[in-house]
Amino acid sequence: MQSSVWRAAGLAAAILLMADCSQHVASPARAVPRDAATSANVDAFVATHLVLDLTADFDAKTLSGTAELLFNRRDPKATEVVLDTRDLLIRQVETATREGPWTRSTHRLDLATPAFGSALRITMPSGADRVRIAYSSSPAAKGLQWLTPAQTAGKKQPFLFSQAQAINARSFIPLQDMPGVRVTYEATIRTPAELVAVMAAERTAGEAGTGLFHFSMPQPIPSYLIAIAIGDLRFKAMSERTGVWAEPALLDAAAREFEDTETMMRTAEALYGPYRWGRYDLLVLPPSFPFGGMENPRVTFATPTVIAGDKSLVALVAHELAHSWSGNLATNATWSDFWLNEGFTTYLERRIVEATYGKGVAEMHGVIGLRDLAQSRRDLTVARDRTLQPDLAGRDPDEAYSTVPYEQGALFLSFLEAKFGRGAFDQFLRRWFDEHAFQPVTTAEFLEALRTQLMAANPTAVRDDEIQEWLQSETVPAFAVLPMSDALVKVEQARDLWLAGGTIDALAKTASAWSTQEWMHFVDALPRQMEIGRLRALDRRFSLTDSQNAEIAHVWFRLAIANRYTAAYPAMERYMIRIGRRKLIVPLYRDLSATSDGMALATRIYAKARDGYHPLAQGAVDVILKPKNS
Ligand SMILES: [Zn+2]
Repeated sequence: MQSSVWRAAGLAAAILLMADCSQHVASPARAVPRDAATSANVDAFVATHLVLDLTADFDAKTLSGTAELLFNRRDPKATEVVLDTRDLLIRQVETATREGPWTRSTHRLDLATPAFGSALRITMPSGADRVRIAYSSSPAAKGLQWLTPAQTAGKKQPFLFSQAQAINARSFIPLQDMPGVRVTYEATIRTPAELVAVMAAERTAGEAGTGLFHFSMPQPIPSYLIAIAIGDLRFKAMSERTGVWAEPALLDAAAREFEDTETMMRTAEALYGPYRWGRYDLLVLPPSFPFGGMENPRVTFATPTVIAGDKSLVALVAHELAHSWSGNLATNATWSDFWLNEGFTTYLERRIVEATYGKGVAEMHGVIGLRDLAQSRRDLTVARDRTLQPDLAGRDPDEAYSTVPYEQGALFLSFLEAKFGRGAFDQFLRRWFDEHAFQPVTTAEFLEALRTQLMAANPTAVRDDEIQEWLQSETVPAFAVLPMSDALVKVEQARDLWLAGGTIDALAKTASAWSTQEWMHFVDALPRQMEIGRLRALDRRFSLTDSQNAEIAHVWFRLAIANRYTAAYPAMERYMIRIGRRKLIVPLYRDLSATSDGMALATRIYAKARDGYHPLAQGAVDVILKPKNS
């Protein structure tokens, strides 16, 4: 009873919203940019609002209930709407006109493909512009991870979280799963009474202990930003509009670590315009979360591996916060334009870090990013994936995921900043976000803005062929403006002195004030072939094998693998079982797989670790460890 009243209220609110907030809604005349990964017939129907009523069943590992979609009908003659799904069990489909009653409709699911799942085809009677689908997600849904209590910090309650980017929303909601379509949404979420649900939306009703939560998302968002987490979650405020959600054991440490969030928001607003999403909270997930962070609007999902105790890894917050402009506001129209989300955001992240922690810190991040870019390019097997314009036809965008759109994109923007001047470039970016707020953006549109704004005012600053090289090159262009860091040059000098026979005491004296980034650079810049005695001396003095800093431990384990420093292996194994963040574990599997005894070890570790990993991390490691002859 309550749910149907709620649904009716939700829909009425949505219709009102569409009338009131026209600035939020894409102009109806504009064609929706087609993404290669969707089956949706957006020329006929474009979704504008979603109403969810879902029950989380931790025993069955399913979300089940209904999803209602309200469409803008663009083709009055269309008789079918096509939605994206993956592994969903569809129970019943109904359709309706805007004001009319629900009637049962026929539907069929196309044969599933591994890349995209199955298209759901629903018969639409004349005038119908709403569908209601009763369904359940699969226990193996690619966009959900169901954790046992043992996989959480508290060890007492289970945990569920979603990760919809790039095309995994379809594994828990039937919808038009593409970044060019934006919906507002309402959700009713039913959970076991002892758990709390959090969504990337405003919680409009629901208290801990009731097992019933209502959410409303008034700003239209693309499907990949729909997000839910359910667990033993508590909240702690950091400022009037920022706060942290975490399991009780992590709450205080997380709030301390992220206490500069409000300062970062003010910096970002001063540079790029008002923050348009109301609150900005962070939700700390269990360590199996496959990413560093996910910029779900109003509540960033973050890995606990950035809680280092000294704020040294909070550039992640700057990054996810920056997505509130680049990505969430001006959104890549297709996944081939991913650099418009991530290159812009990496550039913005460094600007926020510079303003908050100083130029020297931002420079270190830039240099480390450049090194990651080179490494990432070497690991890619498809040549076009090394450019800013990958060809994703027929592929799950996740297959092409790498550092390239992040770092090559950020270098491109740094180049433009250097050529046009920071003042002009900042103005250009602010205008870009204002003019494309709540809209999809393409690379062509970016080039057009560049031409008509920055280049028109300063025609000799950059050349067309330079811009094309940025987009198409598999390497960093020779004319790039590269990041430099005095601090990291000093680290290299300290390394050289020590390698030339300097004492560990002299090194310790220099290193006593090193930050996480300086340590990462030092370890990463050590030779891949060293005397084991030297490694042991380093380890004994600085306890690198036992480092509680996940990033330092990561570079140390890579050095250990290269040198077969087996004393680090037991700690590395524990690390690889505990953490599921792809960036931290996948390179370790890849390094190990280069030798036959390493491969044997990797296979043994993976046998213990795989069940604890997210499906996305499993997919990445499966590829590395699959027998070469299969
Ligand atoms: Zn990002």
